[in-house]
Amino acid sequence: MKKKYKAIFFDWDGTAVLSRKAPVEDIVAAMRPLLDEKVNLVIVSGTTIENIAGGKLAEYFTEEQLNYLYLGLGRGTFNYRYENGQELVFSDMLPDEKLLADIHRICFDIHMELLEKYGLNTDIVFSRPNYCKIDLMVANQRGDNLFMQENELDMLKDCLKKHGVENGLQGLLDISVAAGAKYGIQVKPTCDAKYLEVGISSKSDNVDQILGYLQEKYEISAEECSFWGDEYVGIEEGIYGSDSFMRTDKTKSGYFFDVSEVPGKRPEGVEQLGGGVDRFLGFLKEQV
Ligand SMILES: [Mg+2]
Repeated sequence: MKKKYKAIFFDWDGTAVLSRKAPVEDIVAAMRPLLDEKVNLVIVSGTTIENIAGGKLAEYFTEEQLNYLYLGLGRGTFNYRYENGQELVFSDMLPDEKLLADIHRICFDIHMELLEKYGLNTDIVFSRPNYCKIDLMVANQRGDNLFMQENELDMLKDCLKKHGVENGLQGLLDISVAAGAKYGIQVKPTCDAKYLEVGISSKSDNVDQILGYLQEKYEISAEECSFWGDEYVGIEEGIYGSDSFMRTDKTKSGYFFDVSEVPGKRPEGVEQLGGGVDRFLGFLKEQV
């Protein structure tokens, strides 16, 4: 744990902050001295920039500090850096109008198949830029706390079993891939204990593109990076949480840490530390 990293990639909700509405003073205070030391900090989150510190993250840092801050957001959609204190998207995976419309159709088809074949009703959030979010547990609210809670996994598995969805979560991913194939689109579905997300990118695209940028600009290699999240845990044989997508062919020689307390299997190469947000904040402070 004494190793000093040149770039630290981290999830936001549940890793850097307890919830989207929680105060950000602690995390920004831990980030500032590292940015001053020119350590590259990379927030990797499924959410949009409006949901990171209420869209005001940049206001917490100086122009100089912002030069070392990156955001990989929207489940692979947008990669941001700052120039002269202004945020700019330096790479994206935005679909054209037709592809976006097809993603919506694919998700509606998935919804209908689950409803008609299995009697499982879902809600779909359509307003994301290159994917849809299918809420599988419409009766169960996470409230403001967006981190995965222990019993959610069992509740979803029970729910799928009760409705006769074969092969559990893998079955949902198979249904999604088949629905995409009908439109000639290779979708990248992911599933956590509550949401099935179907689109054309994932957190893998964020980390690959931002690491690519850091490699080009500063010759930083994956071995000099660490990757922090709270959703690495296996939710079924061979299926891991959203943060596991940060571990790609390009990044896998880096160091991966899970601050979640949830018991279960982690992907190869991911160390479970537990301790939640406090553990991550403690790590940042040790890095200075
Ligand atoms: Mg999280």
